[in-house]
Order: sequence, then C-alpha cells, then structure tokens
Amino acid sequence: MHARGFRRIAALAVATAAPLGFGLATAPAASAAAATTVYYSSTGAPDYVAQIDQGAANWNAAVSDVRLVKDEGKATVVLHEVHSGGSYTQTDGHGNGDVYLDTSQVAEGYDPTRIAAHELGHNLGLPDHYEGPCTELMSGHGPGTSCTNAKPDSQESAKVQQLWANGFRAEGDGTRVTTTVY
Ligand SMILES: [Zn+2]
Repeated sequence: MHARGFRRIAALAVATAAPLGFGLATAPAASAAAATTVYYSSTGAPDYVAQIDQGAANWNAAVSDVRLVKDEGKATVVLHEVHSGGSYTQTDGHGNGDVYLDTSQVAEGYDPTRIAAHELGHNLGLPDHYEGPCTELMSGHGPGTSCTNAKPDSQESAKVQQLWANGFRAEGDGTRVTTTVY
C-alpha cells in the first residue's frame, strides 16, 4: 500500500456493488427510449455544484442507458459536503445513495470534479479500482493529486451501459454499502 495524504474514516466496508467484470468495450448505443433517469441533488454540497453537474454531464456523455438529472425534489442520489474524513458514498449501487464530498480532501489537492464523478460512478454500480490509471475514474486517489481526469474510460462506460441496459434500477433494494474513501 502506498501512503495516502488524507485521513481514512473508520470501519469502512469495501464497495461490492458490482464485480469488476469489464468485458465490453463498445460505444454506448443510442437507446434513449430505454434510458433510466436517476435524479440527484447538489444543494447539500454548495461549494461543488458546478463540479457535480460536470461530473454528471461526463457520465451522460459516455452512456445512454442511464441519465443523471438534477432535481432537488426527486433526488435519490443526494450529495453532501463534509470537512474531514475523506469523500465517500453510501449506496445500493442502483441509483440510491448519499455522496459525501470532503472539502479537506480537495484542499489537499484532489480534483473535486473527478471526486464527484467517481462517487456518482458508485451510484451507477461501479466499485473502486485504485490500482487503475488516471484514465479510469474509479481509480480514485490511486493516481495521486495530479490526476484530474473526471471522465469514465471506455471500459467503465461500457460496464455502466451493460448494467443499466435492462431493469438494473428495479434490482436495487436501497441497502446502502459504504464505499472506501475516494
Ligand atoms: Zn470510490
């Protein structure tokens, strides 16, 4: 394990919302009629509203079977701002969750748009993959503070596309698992 420049919160369970079964590398098909909409709220993270919107937009540009739309009233993914402990998510991996964005982690140099997009990725069913390169969103803190990529790579996009192709939302039972810190 390499050194990490931020505190870890205690008693974190490893996110296992979905296995790392990346196998598809196809571009998302244009199937807007079948898209599931997941609503999110960002008023609880007032310092990162633009970054959250950009992270959601990056996902929307990469996949078509699920759409992230901001709606404070309908939100099932609720973003919050905290000031210590690291950024993390509590989610069922099926579009129900709470995201905690840590201002102290951003102060340490981690890119807030990448953090937001990464945590949204958990809500879309992806697990952490810290050993991955900067081009992967779910590599999180792994590539270090110099990594500002906030877009999923083709394998991550294909995995989310595959997951949400048919009935994935309905499979979520709301049981939320706490991810490890970004
Ligand atoms: Zn994570």
